[in-house]
Amino acid sequence: MYLCMNYYVWTIGCQMNVADSRRLESALEQLGHTPVERAEAADIVVLNTCVVRQSAENKIYGRLGSLKPLKEEHPETVIGLMGCFVGRGDASRLRRRFPWVDVTMPPSDPRPLLDYLTERGLVDDDRAMETAQDLRRYSLQDGDLMLPARERETLVSAYVSVVLGCSHACSYCIIPYRRGPERSRPMEEILDEARALATQGVKEITLLGQIVDRYGLDLPEAQRPEPSLPSLLRQLHRIEGLKRIRFLTSHPNWMTDELLDAVAELPKVCEHIEVPVQAGDDQVLARMKRGYTADEYRRLVARIRERIPGVSIATDIIVGFPGETREQFQRTYDLLAELRLDKAHIARYSPRPQTLAARQFEDNVPPEEKERRRKALDDLQGEIVGQINACLLGETVEVLIEGKKKDRWWGRTRTDKLVYFEDDADWRGQLAQVRITWAGPWSLIGEVNTISR
Ligand code: SAM
Repeated sequence: MYLCMNYYVWTIGCQMNVADSRRLESALEQLGHTPVERAEAADIVVLNTCVVRQSAENKIYGRLGSLKPLKEEHPETVIGLMGCFVGRGDASRLRRRFPWVDVTMPPSDPRPLLDYLTERGLVDDDRAMETAQDLRRYSLQDGDLMLPARERETLVSAYVSVVLGCSHACSYCIIPYRRGPERSRPMEEILDEARALATQGVKEITLLGQIVDRYGLDLPEAQRPEPSLPSLLRQLHRIEGLKRIRFLTSHPNWMTDELLDAVAELPKVCEHIEVPVQAGDDQVLARMKRGYTADEYRRLVARIRERIPGVSIATDIIVGFPGETREQFQRTYDLLAELRLDKAHIARYSPRPQTLAARQFEDNVPPEEKERRRKALDDLQGEIVGQINACLLGETVEVLIEGKKKDRWWGRTRTDKLVYFEDDADWRGQLAQVRITWAGPWSLIGEVNTISR
């Protein structure tokens, strides 16, 4: 028996979830299913979830709630729950709490859904077996790694997970509990995936890992070429068709000179580093279990800037960590003002179940004070980025064009700045030379050099 069903995948959270959803969609399409735009029109609905902060978790409850009446009206609709809300352990508690969910899947692993569909005779056995076999390797195999329909011929930039899970255990972070311990994917598998993406027109890949610089450290030493992020970058650099390579997220303790030199040396690797500082006060950093001091972070920023000319640096910060005093917060503010980084993702601390911080410390910075601190950093960073970007006025920058919004083409510079311009020609997937005519903190506008096409 063979059934063609409609599917709908809803994704929130980090770039890794976006990569996981793409893999799930590829698998469903390999089984002959078709994407639709709304859950109500689908036979299979999957929520791919994030719980890094309570606000993300609340969105899941909202979505799950709206699926209950849908399931009551159409009991044959298959409802799947995937990602960090599920985690890697026993999900029976979740199934009891949300009985309208038919199947749960850990992060990065769509196989339970395929098993469920097979057991119920909802897919052809041979095809399901083939797909499940492909999924046993992390990626679908070579030629079979088809982009899902919504991305075919349009996707310019794709995420590729290279390190799954995390073993660092920052005291505030739920990810190690939900994504499990650190596991690097074999280098050959990543290269196959990158080649398959390039063959399908993808021009830029971003390698993902919670601490991406640790790539390979858990793999057998005997593997050749030696598995490390710099050696992976060198191998990926040879792939024809790929124009740019990025990676994130770095951890200050694992950024080796070898890695920085590879970024500086390899023309396709973009000079952009995402390296979270999280706080500018040493006591807070120690309670976060980050493993470095503010001064060490300062020296790291200097080292990155010294070794990679023209580099841009992004960071993450958490405000209102338990016990963070006004003076301690001020140190974070001063550090951000001093370092003048290109981007800062600022989050209010949110206690997460199981984590050391939630078990040991009281969440004692009031919500209004957390918001005040978040806004102060946001305003400061807006001002800094506004000034950095203003220096680009009149400059010509290289932009990889990802698509068109309204009448404007948009893309990113090598340093990850968003640029818009208007032109009648088709620029998707092209590297454009753009002269910047307007600069704001969040985006730039320019005129394209049409001869560069
Ligand atoms: N693994 C990376 C790192 O070095 O932290 C990033 C992963 S995490 C999904 C992205 C960001 O979420 C973190 O950098 C941190 O700023 C923020 N985050 C994690 N746990 C948080 C929590 N409990 N409350 C608020 N923000 C949190």
